[in-house]
Amino acid sequence: MVAAREAGLLRVAVISDIHANLHALEAVLEAIDSDPPEQLWCLGDLVGYGPRPNEVTALMQERADLCLLGNHDLGVLGRLDLDEFAPDAAVSAEWTRTVLLDEARAFLEGLSPEAKTDGVELYHASPRDPVWEYVLTEEAARDALDLTEAPLVLVGHSHVALAIALAEGALGGGLAPDGSEADLSAGRWLLNPGSVGQPRDADPRGAWLELDLDARRARFRRVAYAVERTQAEIRERGLPDALAERLSHGV
Ligand code: ZN
Repeated sequence: MVAAREAGLLRVAVISDIHANLHALEAVLEAIDSDPPEQLWCLGDLVGYGPRPNEVTALMQERADLCLLGNHDLGVLGRLDLDEFAPDAAVSAEWTRTVLLDEARAFLEGLSPEAKTDGVELYHASPRDPVWEYVLTEEAARDALDLTEAPLVLVGHSHVALAIALAEGALGGGLAPDGSEADLSAGRWLLNPGSVGQPRDADPRGAWLELDLDARRARFRRVAYAVERTQAEIRERGLPDALAERLSHGV
């Protein structure tokens, strides 16, 4: 990270919640690679729900400069009790345990749900609870910014793209659909890039976030992918059909 900053860390692509959806990840990486940033950061939940956990984990091991660990990753590793997960999530975590290769497991075991780098604080879920808390209300967003000091806080976990600003005590912003931009030079910001592999903000396209840490700007992006290919793989593996169906609707 220090070497990157000395070299001038300007642009970073941020992704989260890939959930073993290889086709969504490949489409997002192709979009990112069309104008390559200096770094790629991933906010966790590489696996769970989806059909291609090993390929997604290998790609992140190869490509991510910084990668967090999410609650689904922890569930698959056996470090969270699957009783805490919704039934379809628990079924897919059990299945993932049966197919996860040793090298994928070893990579996930080395990750943490939080990190700090280049004046940015990163959490899979929230500063108060980096593993489980959903930041989806004004109160939770304010608490997240109160519990941190960095000018920029990045979270994932909710699968909803968000840009929340705290300036002179007032909270502003909200949902961040495709093409939204944020001027990070004014106030402190909490951003969620949205989910690559299982968006829940009614836009089924894979989500990612373009950060320019020099110009202090953020831009939210979406890219279409072959949803039906991931749906077919989910069904081939006998995973719950609802996990395939929801990908059509972004819920
Ligand atoms: Zn997730």
